[in-house]
Amino acid sequence: MQLEQTLVLIKPDALKNSSTGYILSLFSELHTGLRFAGLKVAHVHRMLAEEHYAEHKGKIFYPELIDYIMGKLHHQDSPDRRRVIAIVYEGHDAVRKVRDLAGPTDPNTAREEKPGTIRTLGAVIPVTPTDGRPPFHRMDNLIHASATLQEAEREIKLWFKPNDMVPGMRHFPTAEAAEHYYFLNDRVYTCHKPNSTCLLTPGDIAWKSDIEILEACVGQESPQVLLRCVAAKYLLNYRIAE
Ligand code: ADP
Ligand code: MG
Repeated sequence: MQLEQTLVLIKPDALKNSSTGYILSLFSELHTGLRFAGLKVAHVHRMLAEEHYAEHKGKIFYPELIDYIMGKLHHQDSPDRRRVIAIVYEGHDAVRKVRDLAGPTDPNTAREEKPGTIRTLGAVIPVTPTDGRPPFHRMDNLIHASATLQEAEREIKLWFKPNDMVPGMRHFPTAEAAEHYYFLNDRVYTCHKPNSTCLLTPGDIAWKSDIEILEACVGQESPQVLLRCVAAKYLLNYRIAE
């Protein structure tokens, strides 16, 4: 069977409830045969949140979902406590094993149909928006888990640089940057611009697919959508987000 990798996020509600140890125990190598390939504590800024949940843009629950993963719902008055723990697990059948232990998206469904799964500990909270959207229920469900192998690759590359991961456990091709890449206002430059962020310097190791996107975006005038999924991880833990 193929050795897989999958991304888990321990979301802000789980950190606030001190469920981290319980979740890590359930996923432990003893129980699942899965191993850590990468792990970090992350203060999630808006660009990363929006990239992570891009498939849900436009849905009724999207604005609250972004605030949720940014930690704004669970730490309204203490931005410095807004964190998630991001983990890459590796092992046989990793995507399915982790999804099975996570349980159904809706914590009520988890309690009804999959007792013992992590999301049974979640909360379903009524929301009445004041911006014209109809009422709906928020699903605070403690963890994110990649749903497919394809999603796992996209998400691992979004949250982790190659050097954040154990060298022998990088599943995706890497390449060496040949230039400086600076990011400013959704554009990439190879020369420094005031207030820009330096994403890569020559010799840095990055995902090959990221370098290809950066190369394709250099000199492009219009904002590059793909660029955000590369830049987002370099802005992780950069400064406290709004
Ligand atoms: P999963 O996290 O199980 O992969 P989705 O990708 O469909 O589920 O949704 C991402 C997250 O958005 C969920 O974990 C949950 O927090 C929230 N969510 C999903 N569907 C709804 C919904 N119908 N109403 C409110 N929140 C939702
Ligand atoms: Mg999903």
